[in-house]
Amino acid sequence: MAEASPLYETYMRAPLRFVRGEGVWLFTEDGERYLDFAAGVAVNSLGHAHPHLVEAIKAQADKVWHLSNLYEIPGQERLAQRLCAATFADKVFFTNSGAEALECSIKTARRYQYSKGHPEKFHIITFEGAFHGRTIATIAAGGQEKYLEGFGPKAPGFDQVPFGDMDALKAAITDATAAILIEPVQGEGGIRTVSNEVLRELRSICDENGLLLILDEVQSGVGRTGKLFAHEWAGITPDIMAVAKGIGGGFPLGACLATEEAASGMKAGTHGSTYGGNPLAMAVGNAVLDIVLADDFLPHVRDVALVFRQGLAALKDRFPDVIEEIRGEGLMLGIKAKVPSAELLKAMRAEHMLGVPAGDNVIRLLPPLTTTVEEAREGLHRIELAAESLGAREPVLAARA
Ligand code: PLP
Repeated sequence: MAEASPLYETYMRAPLRFVRGEGVWLFTEDGERYLDFAAGVAVNSLGHAHPHLVEAIKAQADKVWHLSNLYEIPGQERLAQRLCAATFADKVFFTNSGAEALECSIKTARRYQYSKGHPEKFHIITFEGAFHGRTIATIAAGGQEKYLEGFGPKAPGFDQVPFGDMDALKAAITDATAAILIEPVQGEGGIRTVSNEVLRELRSICDENGLLLILDEVQSGVGRTGKLFAHEWAGITPDIMAVAKGIGGGFPLGACLATEEAASGMKAGTHGSTYGGNPLAMAVGNAVLDIVLADDFLPHVRDVALVFRQGLAALKDRFPDVIEEIRGEGLMLGIKAKVPSAELLKAMRAEHMLGVPAGDNVIRLLPPLTTTVEEAREGLHRIELAAESLGAREPVLAARA
């Protein structure tokens, strides 16, 4: 019998041990090669071992790793300036993870209302199927029973409405509402895109009611949908935005971005983090931006995404018993399966290709943004083989029945 693991039993891990990565490929201990369209759940935005990131972290490692926020950190100022120049934001707070970026976003919104003389306005409206992290506040914001169960009373101040139900949303606004929080594309909820019209309506509703619009772009941000941030497709801007995953390219890094006005309540002493914005993280974040902000980067993402999506649509037509729908934007795509999605994921893994499970029987495909057209075609080929292997079983099962 295998020895009991000393690790918490919180994860259902696939029996795979990767020891090396290169671009879009991961290599196991035995030297087997897998096409990585999971990218650490949208984290390895530039693939594995990108030479520019490797060089940046090595150079910083030789200088200084950590200082704390007791001192000025030039890398923070540079990364914040670049993020502000590229977005709606005027102010940035650096974190180590997505959930912490959300925590900062929630605190910023509440503190804004408080500093305007409205301490009673601390409620935040969120949407069913949302995922904002695993801290006590973010599981309350996400509102999913499976993540809340057994952890004591749900943190107060989060009011959830059905996804896309604008009447329910309007009805949920009260004198205690501070903000609306939404992912422009729900990731773990099953790659559900919020339409541009709905995003624009949310912006208007916030303006009309004195609410702040908080966008969770932890998964959809940093080029993933073919724009730097997904909300740009709708031509709106939020007041506050949570960012993580892709901005660190694999190094734990997150950020809360805000307008000057929205951040106006966050005075000295109101928030902090030991590690947030440390020099190693800043070196990597700046190196990621060197690449993502280059003129030809986002057009590349859009070109590859088009080929990949068209190929997926063709596979859906060819395998209607396996694939129900293709969803998403840019390189944040989902296959809603007709078969149990875990079976399709397993079949893909048998073809040495990785994807990510999501809600609503969906498999997320989140390849590195550096994926080439040829690699996207390789991915399509492997999904085709996986679908074939499942499709082929159908008549056999039917014959047995
Ligand atoms: N928000 C979204 C949209 C996410 O996808 C995630 C993680 O999957 C989080 C927040 C939480 O990020 P982290 O796991 O880094 O805390």
